[in-house]
Amino acid sequence: MGTTEITHWINGEADPGHGARRQDVYNPATGEVTGRLHLADEQDLDKAVRAARAAADQWGEVSLSKRMNVMFTFRELVHAHTQELAQIITSEHGKVLSDAAGEVARGLEVVEYACALPQTLKGEYSDQFSTGIDVYSFRQPLGVVAGITPFNFPVMVPLWMSPIAIATGNAFILKPSERDPSAALLLAKLYHEAGVPDGVFQVLHGDKDTVNGLLTHESIDAVSFVGSTPIAKHVHETATRHGKRVQALGGAKNHAVVMPDADLDLAADHLSAAAFGSAGERCMAVSVAVAVGEAADALVDKVGQRARDITVGEGTESDVEMGPLITPASKERVQRIVTEAEQAGAAVVVDGRDLVVEGKEEGFFVGPTVLDRVQQEMSAYQEEIFGPVLVVVRVDSLEEAIRVINANPYGNGTAIFTGSGNAARTFQRQVTVGMIGVNVPIPVPAAQHSFGGWKDSLFGDLHIYGPDGVRFYTRGKVVTQRWPHQNDVVAASMNFPSHD
Ligand code: NAD
Repeated sequence: MGTTEITHWINGEADPGHGARRQDVYNPATGEVTGRLHLADEQDLDKAVRAARAAADQWGEVSLSKRMNVMFTFRELVHAHTQELAQIITSEHGKVLSDAAGEVARGLEVVEYACALPQTLKGEYSDQFSTGIDVYSFRQPLGVVAGITPFNFPVMVPLWMSPIAIATGNAFILKPSERDPSAALLLAKLYHEAGVPDGVFQVLHGDKDTVNGLLTHESIDAVSFVGSTPIAKHVHETATRHGKRVQALGGAKNHAVVMPDADLDLAADHLSAAAFGSAGERCMAVSVAVAVGEAADALVDKVGQRARDITVGEGTESDVEMGPLITPASKERVQRIVTEAEQAGAAVVVDGRDLVVEGKEEGFFVGPTVLDRVQQEMSAYQEEIFGPVLVVVRVDSLEEAIRVINANPYGNGTAIFTGSGNAARTFQRQVTVGMIGVNVPIPVPAAQHSFGGWKDSLFGDLHIYGPDGVRFYTRGKVVTQRWPHQNDVVAASMNFPSHD
């Protein structure tokens, strides 16, 4: 198979760009190079930003009703192209096709939320607040916004951002992950086909140089970022220093507490799906099971059995449940962390380090792995493994489980498996984590709510998509108005205005 040239999408068309730098894109299941990605230089970046600026000025003036027609058409197009998008995701990311289609479906929910913008964006009106005076508020677009996205959800995360940014009247520049960049181009074509004007949605490929160019460009008003914590911190600090509004979502270490009164079969089924689905490369993956008291032995036994039964292989094959990791470096990181845990005294209950998939010997595979009796000072507990490894930490009580979770620097998602409403209520009130599941392992909020973690999992004030997304991509105005009748006497006063 030949390699594909993967270009930018600037001002309504595919654009090879001016920059000479190229980067290989792989199929991680086979290790083959499938694409050559064009990396933007300064000239490309400037061209995209200029096109966005001009487009934003016009798009922000288009009526809400016309913008909504475009969003409804885009929704239909994404829905119709779900399988095509899923195939592109699987070929560059490695996750299984059904999981990739699920990612598209979750992204579509945000498009649907954006289609309801006339309701969500309605302003507020205080009639006759003072005698003859009304006060009202409404929101307007920011202008040009950039979205910088991670490799693990090449369709869903761009759809967490762009539909709301565009529906609210902004122009949006997407800088996708350089590891799986092709799905972004299909999204660009679908936006174009839906009637989004040239320059309103653009794709600019690149690495840290392009990101830094976006963070400091004077014509960009806001930046949405999703990725790892060190880069999220860098993005937040740099872009705010350059006067931009920023939301930067970072990494995670999600704990699921299993109480002795939980249904242990349900907990083991869901923990194993949440730890090993997408090879653990989800920001909401459960990577730590906190087993309370006597739940531990049975839980480790049941999760271990399920981990051993998972079929690993290329994501396009129908019986495969888990695909490869994204790069050889990711595979080596996971293998190293498991070895370090073993050397530090953890029990390797299921060991995926040496898994080889027949016929795919060059693929970046690691098998499901379960580590028991992990201590908080081990690298397996401290690092975000981002691979198919479930770490089990044993504690004596719910209070101790909550202390462990709250001492962790990340605060993205967490879950509790229990039969007790009281334990669940105590847990949800006391954990310092943004998204909580009760007998639900991956509590990604529905699009009508917003998504965001606490602590090192999010820098900035507003969460992503949902009502916070609308607030992030708009800014408010308040008007105080008086229309006196020509015979009215409106006395002026040197005092600070008060209401009467
Ligand atoms: P990453 O931080 O390496 O990359 C994210 C983006 O930042 C990419 O577009 C990349 O090109 C850019 N980037 C990389 N290095 C940079 C640098 N030095 N300077 C400027 N930009 C740089 O993340 P990833 O490996 O693509 O994705 C996995 C990470 O994303 C995990 O930590 C995961 O938890 C996190 N994630 C978080 C969420 C969330 O909602 N909180 C969602 C998905 C993924």
